[in-house]
Amino acid sequence: MATALYRRYRPESFADVIGQSHVTDPLMTALRTNRVNHAYLFSGPRGCGKTTSARILARCLNCAEGPTDTPCGKCPSCIELSRDGGGSLDVVEIDAASHNGVDDARDLRERAVFAPARDRYKIFILDEAHMVTPQGFNALLKLVEEPPEHVKFIFATTEPEKVIGTIRSRTHHYPFRLIPPAQMLEYCESLCVSEKIAVEPGVLALVVRAGGGSARDTLSLLDQLIAGSENDAVTYERAVSLLGYTHSALLDEAVDALAAADSAGAFAAVDRVIQTGQDPRRFVEDLLERLRDLILVAATGANANAVLRGIPADELERMQAQAKNFGSAELSRAADVVNSSLTEMTGATSPRLHLELMIARLLVRATGGAPAVAVAPAASAPTAPAKPAVAPAPAPAPKVEAPVAKPESVKEAPVAQAPVVEEPKVVVPTGPVGTRELLEAWPAVLEKIQTTSRAAWLVVVSAQVRSLEDEVLTLVFSNEADAASFRPQKGVPGGVHEILRQAILDTVGVRVGFKVSSDSSATAPIDRMTDTGSVAAPAAPVNAPREFATPAPAAQAEEPPLPEEPPADLEEEPPFEETDPPAVDDGWDVVAIPGGGAPAVLEDEPVVDEVVVVAEVAAPAAPAAKKLTPEQAAHEEARYGEAVVRELLDAKFIAEEVTAPVAVVAPEPEDQA
Ligand SMILES: [Zn+2]
Repeated sequence: MATALYRRYRPESFADVIGQSHVTDPLMTALRTNRVNHAYLFSGPRGCGKTTSARILARCLNCAEGPTDTPCGKCPSCIELSRDGGGSLDVVEIDAASHNGVDDARDLRERAVFAPARDRYKIFILDEAHMVTPQGFNALLKLVEEPPEHVKFIFATTEPEKVIGTIRSRTHHYPFRLIPPAQMLEYCESLCVSEKIAVEPGVLALVVRAGGGSARDTLSLLDQLIAGSENDAVTYERAVSLLGYTHSALLDEAVDALAAADSAGAFAAVDRVIQTGQDPRRFVEDLLERLRDLILVAATGANANAVLRGIPADELERMQAQAKNFGSAELSRAADVVNSSLTEMTGATSPRLHLELMIARLLVRATGGAPAVAVAPAASAPTAPAKPAVAPAPAPAPKVEAPVAKPESVKEAPVAQAPVVEEPKVVVPTGPVGTRELLEAWPAVLEKIQTTSRAAWLVVVSAQVRSLEDEVLTLVFSNEADAASFRPQKGVPGGVHEILRQAILDTVGVRVGFKVSSDSSATAPIDRMTDTGSVAAPAAPVNAPREFATPAPAAQAEEPPLPEEPPADLEEEPPFEETDPPAVDDGWDVVAIPGGGAPAVLEDEPVVDEVVVVAEVAAPAAPAAKKLTPEQAAHEEARYGEAVVRELLDAKFIAEEVTAPVAVVAPEPEDQA
């Protein structure tokens, strides 16, 4: 049975210790100049040579020709303390993990009294010194502070901060470090040569990476690979699967697909990762590592080999091509995306999902496209704001079309009625986007708002789309409170109307202005007539940049209030009479309106957009405020409370739109379950 590699190759002198020259050099100097302290503390990560160095130090101190920085290797002490030796009586190695109590410390104290059996010093090596209890340390304190001439202490620990300060301050502290990859790689290569093992290119780089700078871990892994190799040759395939890394071919595939924005290829690569049972997180890590390598390759060009050690020449060539395809800016952005995904994946329940979303994000970047909202302007069925789609091809096309069409229609609209402007439309021959199109897209708009702001959604969802004409959207709210919260607040930028405007812009590609009214005092149609009539007057078509809704007033006058469920051909004929009546409570539309020409209602509000002013309101605002009856006020409070409760419960709002205008008038606020 073979001894483990790391034992067979354990260094026997400081000169053989790799990667710790910052520690070994001063130690050797101290030995040479005979300035040896009575206690040492060796700290550092596991497997980087602390215990080994402690043994070497003991060997140096007790060598018959010593103290020396290079043990002779021939004297009895050196032979006993060599790697095949049986150990020396005068060098006591204590595993502090199992001998950490006061009794053990006392025992040690007693043994320290006796002079060394043969050699110069009695040397105590306390491994895992951080395991010694404070009481144990305290029992040792006196001994460590003023040991007999012939006693030396060497503490080795991974956690020096757990060694009590009073002990630590009596030692010379030498911090060991992880071994740099380059040195480790070199060392592994030399090991393989002396072991007569052929290793395929790239394998050792993987081993070194997996070893993480610990010599013992690295050698253990190498040992395992050698043990499992046939004909004394370690293949890349076997190494990559045993170590759990992503095969570089698979990485190449993924990176090539990403660089070429080939979504099919990229997702195929991801699928292969999953199908081969690989951990998605590991893949993301490896991808990040690869991107980092590519960034280095892009930055260092032909000298990449000096920075990226252990990478076979052909792979380096491939990486140079990949770096070129990506471009350094895109590379660093991709690395950012991958890095943040890696963080998100910590503890994620569905790492695969995260992996796929990450790929989608990378592809969006790669194509340079905006996260395509796959809702065509007028095209039917805009169900949901699609997530960054992988195949953005169809979406952008109509999108581009819409803005182009718009200006035309704005110009032409005043001249003739909507139907004339027909050509650009895909589906409906009205304008670019009319009431029908907006109604079709309305669920998508709502959904979009819901993802942006729940509070805004609560307001907008209670509104009904009356019409969209010349980019002015007429909304009717079921109560004044909602209408009020929809309107821009003084001095407050943004607000619900802005959110809705953006959602509509994103969904159908039109930037709209608003006319807002509340149905709270839904009353006699005549009032509305007059009201809208008065609205019409001041809004003389000024003509306009696209925001202006020139023809609106005229149209408005003809077709005042629209049906609750505005059917498609709404604009053509306002079915005025038939629409409004539902459940009007005559009880209070009579309520006194001070100075009122129009008993309340439909405050057609100028849409307060930066640009758009559709109409000035004829009806004074004050009366509108006063006209609340007690019932109404109570109702609104109830409504307000309801919205809060809904928000708290995160409840969805289902039914109200249908009955809204009716409900408002109803004496009792309706309950939505
Ligand atoms: Zn010797």
